[in-house]
Amino acid sequence: MQEETVLMLASDPEHIAISKSTGIKIDWRDGHHSDYSLAHLRDECPCATCTGSHGTEPQRSNYSTPGPFPMFKPALKMNSVEAVGSYAVRIYWNDGHSSGIYSFEHLRRICPCDECKGA
Ligand SMILES: [Zn+2]
Ligand SMILES: [Zn+2]
Repeated sequence: MQEETVLMLASDPEHIAISKSTGIKIDWRDGHHSDYSLAHLRDECPCATCTGSHGTEPQRSNYSTPGPFPMFKPALKMNSVEAVGSYAVRIYWNDGHSSGIYSFEHLRRICPCDECKGA
């Protein structure tokens, strides 16, 4: 199994570097650079279960912000990442979760850099 996966896509990101144990880095076509940690990506999972968009309680993983009653969590890892068309990636987590389709639009919105967080 290969640790680094590089996806070359014809849409917004010019280059995506995926490391299953550390996270995803994206170079955008407009020159912006995003560096996502695993915990950040897991917490920002856009699927209906995690966001509660089916009218259910959001099941946020909160990997990056420990709550008052921290539960044991195994080290987060991505088992695999696959391209979904040319607009998104799907992440298979080692906690069994795999319903998150991360569109590049979503990824750009959750960019954790100071510039984007301040915007
Ligand atoms: Zn999810
Ligand atoms: Zn940014």
